[in-house]
Order: sequence, then structure tokens, then C-alpha cells
Amino acid sequence: MGSIVDRKARPEVFSLKPYVPGKPVEEVERELGITGVIKLASNENPLGPSPLAIARVEAALQKLNMYPDGAYYYLRQALAGHYGLGEDAFLVGNGSDELLRLITETFVNPGDEVLYGVPSFSEYGFMALVMGGKCVEVPLKEMRFDLPAMRERITDRTKMVYICNPNNPTGSIVSRAATDEFMNSIPDDVLVIFDEAYYEYVTDKDYVSGLEYLAQGKNVIVLRTFSKVYGLAGLRVGYGITTPEIAGAVNRVREPFNVNLLAQTAAIGALADEQHLQKSRELNTKGRDYLYQEFSRMGLEYVPTEANFIFVDVKRDCRQVFQALLKEGVIIRTGDIFGFPSHIRVTIGKPEENQRFITALQKVLQA
Ligand code: PMP
Repeated sequence: MGSIVDRKARPEVFSLKPYVPGKPVEEVERELGITGVIKLASNENPLGPSPLAIARVEAALQKLNMYPDGAYYYLRQALAGHYGLGEDAFLVGNGSDELLRLITETFVNPGDEVLYGVPSFSEYGFMALVMGGKCVEVPLKEMRFDLPAMRERITDRTKMVYICNPNNPTGSIVSRAATDEFMNSIPDDVLVIFDEAYYEYVTDKDYVSGLEYLAQGKNVIVLRTFSKVYGLAGLRVGYGITTPEIAGAVNRVREPFNVNLLAQTAAIGALADEQHLQKSRELNTKGRDYLYQEFSRMGLEYVPTEANFIFVDVKRDCRQVFQALLKEGVIIRTGDIFGFPSHIRVTIGKPEENQRFITALQKVLQA
């Protein structure tokens, strides 16, 4: 007979592989009985949250008895001012993760095709499978999204396309020319989601944001987040920029109070904190250059990054390197989950964290 789960649960549930998060510092310290562990595994901001965000959270603590504003009036107003767009162009979610879910719930019927490059952020496929969608995965070419190959895979069942730009885990971007060509050649009825979670770190002049295509009237959603450069991953707040019509449809699916009160107010503070943003970017560029130099010195190949992490080939079994680095008190992410068994992904940290990682990596690779 089997259990109620066997008999009654939706079959889609069994096609899902759980998300593999970066290991928390406390867990590693508990398991290994050590202290002073550093985490370079989840692309968090090593400088912490913006001080303006912290001040707002402190002030808001007294209001925790109240429900949050379910329409995020002030946050949408701040976003609208920041972008020079109307307030009805914005979606707000409990992390951009939630927006990925809500968009998929709004658009994907069983059997609809959802197209994206691999390796990339695992949630695109996860959300599609939850809704019974069909995942169409196109391998990266030279570590970049292969837009011409993705174009070839569009069918009349293609509902959505994801372009992760910069891409996680490679840190690579797609060129303006390739993106223009892709956007000009796809059917109007395909929704293109530009996941720009790492947008604020980009320095390459050849970068093009999905906002340009949105301005041209294309069916586009741009996703950004307060979890990365703004340093608010723990509060969970991300946002989408799209047409008022698409925003209206996605808003019908969500829960009335999906973004909590502290998250809303912190996001307003963080968005206004130009100084923290600037400091975070500078720290990242310096750390990136230091790590490039050290990887080259060690003879390790890496993918040039436009984000706050680097995908590097350590030419060993990445699981072993991961375990050995853990014992040195450094948490990174392994490449095997992305199909690259000799790569690791390391978040760019503060100078002392980067140095500690390099010292540990050198020791581990020499052993
Ligand atoms: N998109 C990409 C490419 C990411 O790397 C992440 C975080 N790992 C997210 C979206 C989700 O971020 P959040 O839900 O914290 O906004």
C-alpha cells in the first residue's frame, strides 16, 4: 500500500533535489571543536550590513508587534526614486529566491519548458520542477552562458528563459552583442528573467543589464537583491523590476506579508548608503586582484569574475580540498555540485580572510 506520501504526494516532489547551502560557521566550529572559522562560501558581504540599515532595524524593533506593510510602500518608493521608474514596476520578495518561486508559480504550467545555462543557480530548475515544468539545460561555453545555443533550444513550449548575469558559480557575464542578438531573435511570448544578484560588483564595460531590454518594451524581469553587496542576506529581501502588468500578476500569487518589517526598513537604509556600497565594491576589486595574483603564482587557473566570488580549478578532488580547508578553519564551496569536480568557488573576503584562505590552500595543496 505504501504511506500517504507514496500514495498522495505530488509526483513532482520526488524529482526535487534539496538546495545545498554553504556550511554555517557555527556548525563547523561545533563539529571540529575549533573557533575562529571564516566562511567564504555564500557570497555574503564581508563588511557586514550597512550601518544605515542597522540603525533603521534598531529603531524598528519597537514596532515588532505590528504587521509589516504588505505593499512595502516606502521601500517601493525608495526603489522607484533610485531607478527613476514608477512604483508599480517593482516586485519585492523574501529574498530573490521567493521571487523565483512566485514568477514560476505565475507562469509555468506542467510541461512548460524553462530554459537556462548550466552550471548556474540551482533554484531555476528547482522551482520549475516544483510546478511540473520541464528543465531545458544548456551547458556553458568557455564558462559563459551560451546564448546562441540557448536560442536553438527555444520551442513553442518555452515559457521562461533565465540569464544569470553575472553567473553563479562562474562569475562570468554575457557580452552585450550576444545578448542583443538573443533578445532580438526570440519570440515575443518568451519571458526573459535576468538574474542580476551580483550586478553591483560588475566592472566590465561590455556588461548589459536586462533593464535596457525592459525599457525597449520586451517581456523581461530583472531580479536584484539586498543579500549580496548590501549585506542583508540574513533578513531576506530581494526585488524585481518589470512591467506593471507582470508585477501585478506575480503579486496576485504572493502571501500578503511576504517581506518582514525589519527587512523592509533595513533595505531602505541600505539603498541610501552610497558609502557602504562604494567601500564594498572597492574591497571586492582589491581582494579579487590579490586572489588572481596568488592563483597565478600557484599555477591555478581561474575564471575571471565580475562578481564577489571566484571559480578556480585546484586540480584535485574538490571534496578533499574542501575537507582539508575546513580543518584549517576556512569554509568554501565545492565545484562538484556544479559538475566541476576539481573546482572550488571562493567568496572574496576582507584582506586578512583572503590571506588566510591562500595560506590554507597552499598548505592543503602541498600536502
Ligand atoms: N540568484 C543568484 C544568482 C544567487 O547566487 C542567489 C544567492 N545565492 C540568489 C539569486 C538568491 O539570493 P537571495 O534569495 O538571497 O536574494
